[in-house]
Amino acid sequence: MSLEEVARAVAGCVACPLAQTRLKTVPGDGPATAEIMFIGEAPGYHENQQGRPFVGPAGQLLDELLASIGLKRPDVFIANVVKCRPPSNRDPQPEEIAACSEYLDAQIKIIGPKVIVTLGRYSMARFFPGESISKIHGVARQRDGVTCFAMYHPAAALHQPALRQTLFRDMAKLPDIVAKAKAADAPAEPPAPPDMPEQLSLF
Ligand code: URA
Ligand code: SF4
Repeated sequence: MSLEEVARAVAGCVACPLAQTRLKTVPGDGPATAEIMFIGEAPGYHENQQGRPFVGPAGQLLDELLASIGLKRPDVFIANVVKCRPPSNRDPQPEEIAACSEYLDAQIKIIGPKVIVTLGRYSMARFFPGESISKIHGVARQRDGVTCFAMYHPAAALHQPALRQTLFRDMAKLPDIVAKAKAADAPAEPPAPPDMPEQLSLF
């Protein structure tokens, strides 16, 4: 299966009640080769209009956060836990998240990211059920063989300005976490040959 096939399946999906009220489906955006996957909650007003994730005010802050570590949109894959907008931006319901999870699972399988960054509680709960975001944000952990890293949702910082600094501080840890995840995945290199002793190198 390809990302395009997932997007096509999402476009025709009526597996939960959100299909009745959505305008456009928002499957997610980014290359299949992305090393980092960001997973948000659900499309909002602007995403529902455009069919693309994080294009409203929360998306602007996400762009700033990415830029703060030298990344741009096309470098990463951005998805959501549910692919259709909940009416009036209400919280996604457990049965909606469950109905939609096969698409996110498929995207994760296709992309095989080195690091998954969860944005907000609903995304975090999928990987770390029962945890509290105030306790585990900014700490990398292994989950099903993938490095997962929980962050607050950018929209939370729009309502609670104090979280802005926390978001930037957590984001600043990401390059190191990605580098570590890549090093752990890389095949072990054979040890380098010892340096030639001084006296032999005279020949
Ligand atoms: N908030 C989300 O969680 N996802 C989006 O795509 C936009 C806002
Ligand atoms: Fe299907 Fe997910 Fe949209 Fe529900 S939210 S209709 S499960 S694509």
